[in-house]
Amino acid sequence: MGEKPKVAICWLGACGGCDEAIVDLNEGLLDVAEAVSIELWPVAMDFKYDHLAAFGKDDIAVGLVSGHVRNSEHEEVAHLLRDRCRIVIALGTCACFGGTPGLANLFPREEILDAVYLKSPGVVNPDGRIPQVETLWEGEILHLPAFFDHVYALNQVVDVDFYIPGCPPPSELIRNGVRAVLTDDLPPKGSTLAPRKALCETCPRNKTKPMRLEIHGPIRRIHEVEADPEICFLAEGILCMGPATRTGCGETCIRTNTPCRGCFGPVPGVADPGSRFISSLAALLKVGTAGDPDTVMASIGDPVGYLYRFTHPISTLGVRRLSKPTKEIP
Ligand code: SF4
Ligand code: SF4
Repeated sequence: MGEKPKVAICWLGACGGCDEAIVDLNEGLLDVAEAVSIELWPVAMDFKYDHLAAFGKDDIAVGLVSGHVRNSEHEEVAHLLRDRCRIVIALGTCACFGGTPGLANLFPREEILDAVYLKSPGVVNPDGRIPQVETLWEGEILHLPAFFDHVYALNQVVDVDFYIPGCPPPSELIRNGVRAVLTDDLPPKGSTLAPRKALCETCPRNKTKPMRLEIHGPIRRIHEVEADPEICFLAEGILCMGPATRTGCGETCIRTNTPCRGCFGPVPGVADPGSRFISSLAALLKVGTAGDPDTVMASIGDPVGYLYRFTHPISTLGVRRLSKPTKEIP
């Protein structure tokens, strides 16, 4: 029997939920472990980055990389994975679009450090110390990764071959993605390994969404009302990102009476889900009864935080790319 394909699973700026989605393969994980050789998985196994660095270029068949890039360690590991893996899959919404941590891009780096280390209630920091890249401590220089002034999606730092969105991504999509790599049955490079439809098309409430939807304003949010568990949220005047969001999540939020917040990212062909949603919302507002546009927008409360909750770094508001790695890859 030939050598098993090598797989690297790695998190950058991540909460661990994407790794948990892999663990949620349950018994299926045994099949994956049987079919491949896992060479890196910091969450589950005690591999070191040196083990990864010891491989040659493209020695690893596929890297599943979750999390955003916010510091120089994330960036260095992203470049190392890109060099050692033939195929890189951005796993989960943080890697695909920047994710919820991307909303930090609305604040300057210094303001974030001040809030966390100096001004937060409960912080005791009489000397006003802020973490530094180098700190002299008892004759030794201690190093920390450099904290960037921006949160980046993975493809703003390295080339990405495929995308599996979701916060966290459904285990089924991960299973299908790994299977597609192992059987060499992949779509064109750059594809998202999820259906090419909007969530509304697969939503169980779609049949209650009127052909001609009108919102008479103001827009309501789910915590302000008792939503009908059967009716389309937008038809009830409740904000739901379904029309602008790709499906593939299994409609888990909708099924628990929670409107879509957009974690699967934009529908195919749309670069900026927030502006797409605002334009479709504007078309739904009933002139005369919806009130003036400013009042309607004010009723959303935090439009940028809501409409770009998962996608700010890749949106037209927030797009930015790192020009080169902060450290050469060995
Ligand atoms: S996509 Fe969601 S589950 Fe995955 S690392 Fe980001 S926040 Fe966690
Ligand atoms: S707007 Fe939301 S609730 Fe209505 S059909 Fe679309 S996804 Fe379903």
